Amino acid sequence: MPAPELPDLIPLDEAQRRVLEGVSPLPAVTVDLAAADGLVLAAPVRSPLTVPTWANSAMDGFAVVSADVAAASPAAPVRLRVLGEVPAGRAPDAGVAPGTALRIMTGAMMPAGADAVVPVEDTDASHGASEVPDAVAIRTGVRAGDNVRAAGTDVREGALLLERGRACDPAAIALLAATGVARVEVHRRPRVAVISTGDELVPPGEPLGPAQIHDANSLSLAAQAAEAGAEVRRMGIARDTLPALLALVREAVAWADIVILSGGVSVGAHDHVKAAFEDVGTLSLWRVAIKPGRPFAFARAASGGHAVRLFGLPGNPVSVFVTFELFVRPVLRLLAGHPRAFDRPVRMARLAEPMRGSAGRLNLTRVVLAPDPEHPDGVIARSSGGQDSYMLASLAAANALAFLPPGADLPAGAEVVVWEMRGRDT
Ligand code: AMP
Ligand code: MG
Repeated sequence: MPAPELPDLIPLDEAQRRVLEGVSPLPAVTVDLAAADGLVLAAPVRSPLTVPTWANSAMDGFAVVSADVAAASPAAPVRLRVLGEVPAGRAPDAGVAPGTALRIMTGAMMPAGADAVVPVEDTDASHGASEVPDAVAIRTGVRAGDNVRAAGTDVREGALLLERGRACDPAAIALLAATGVARVEVHRRPRVAVISTGDELVPPGEPLGPAQIHDANSLSLAAQAAEAGAEVRRMGIARDTLPALLALVREAVAWADIVILSGGVSVGAHDHVKAAFEDVGTLSLWRVAIKPGRPFAFARAASGGHAVRLFGLPGNPVSVFVTFELFVRPVLRLLAGHPRAFDRPVRMARLAEPMRGSAGRLNLTRVVLAPDPEHPDGVIARSSGGQDSYMLASLAAANALAFLPPGADLPAGAEVVVWEMRGRDT
């Protein structure tokens, strides 16, 4: 009998290129700003409002005519008659004329005639006193515009607030809310279905029988997909039969944009992922020349007019985690409308210790990055622990993957590329 033909062994960047081919942003929808967190703008947003819309005080203090008090000092204070007060949220009912002042709160509207605010701490008035004093002694001079937020100094009506492709992060949401934008046009949130496969798997929280282990992958994948901005459905654990797997895969394909399976993708007697993928779509099979993470199945399907991509990741939990980072996260970003697929910071680091990589594959070594004591802007990388693909303690301890070239035998101090797993480039 001839040996079964092995699929192509391809480099990481080629595998990433194939996976990202043809991925475009999901359709645009209009959502309330309160539901926009993390979603990506599908159209530029212009400001419906000038902000500040009217000049207001930057301090608690007294609104004055600056010419009155230009020469004020602790030795020569200037006394002004106080006509009343302007709290936040109420239009002033009087203007300020030379020789007078209005007590004013931060954010309150500047009264007509006043062109500066003297902070309360530069006067003889007491902080927070509820009675408005009849007069106030100004101890420090101010110039026109001091402690005033002039109209339009932040945003002008009609100005471009945010570009298409910008994620609605907390800062963007603050700007949109402040300018009165209540609804935004964004790309729909990608839907991700996660399925674990294996007769040995038991959810955490349930007792382990003989030869059983806890399902780590469906929880880690769900967390990674959610962190990447997806709406996630965990479909459960498929037992190692084709009908059991197919039932879950079909259900997943009907709902999701991305279906992620783990396990069952190598050449074991009970590995049915490839057959399931062939049933629902078009299977592409290749081996990626990386360690961990070599076996990898990918398929495209269509369901009710929407495209579905299926990933059959290896079973070992570290391989699952790493292949999600390298392949699935970039696809999710493009679906979500981010202009760039890759957002993790990639930089150079010096090895704190010698490292070897196995031959023929790019080794993705779990490392901890720390500031380089010898190079102020540099970082050093040390191994975070055991590197077998079942070892999760070293994954949780790591903050980056070091890329060791195939067969590398690197001394301490050698420079390597590192892929940070927690930060993001913008
Ligand atoms: P497989 O590719 O199905 O042969 O799985 C490879 C290895 O990964 C085996 O040791 C499995 O027990 C393990 N594995 C598969 N799925 C999971 C999972 N969801 N959680 C933890 N380990 C798993
Ligand atoms: Mg299995």
